[in-house]
Amino acid sequence: MTIKKFDHIGIAVEELELSLKKWAKVFNFNFSEIEILPSRGVRVAYLFPEEGPAIELISPFGEDSPVRKFLANRGEGIHHLCFQVKDLKKAMVELKEQGLSFLTDCPLPGAGGSQIVFVHPKVLNGVLIELKEKKEEEEKGEET
Ligand code: ZN
Repeated sequence: MTIKKFDHIGIAVEELELSLKKWAKVFNFNFSEIEILPSRGVRVAYLFPEEGPAIELISPFGEDSPVRKFLANRGEGIHHLCFQVKDLKKAMVELKEQGLSFLTDCPLPGAGGSQIVFVHPKVLNGVLIELKEKKEEEEKGEET
């Protein structure tokens, strides 16, 4: 399977608003609005360098948030890397053929109307990898 783009690096944080302000100020990054993804139990915001992957700050939303567990077990820090793919379902089939598994059976709603899935970190040296398929309109907009 082919990775289209190194999309972002996810960092788990306790205080999203404070962290967003701090990162934006220290590195003079442009940044997004905060988006709530209730079905995934997270709130996210993005910081954008001029080039290269974005930085995604993620903090828990609700009691059952997987990010709350991550923070409790490991503390703040790098949580995952995200690669963008053209066709998420196809990528999942191809990776399954290589013996990889996923944290969920089906893609989940991601930020900005994208579809995402997390690859089980066991076979990838303990690194949690998110695969993302961008919303179609967004992609067309980018190419024009
Ligand atoms: Zn992410």
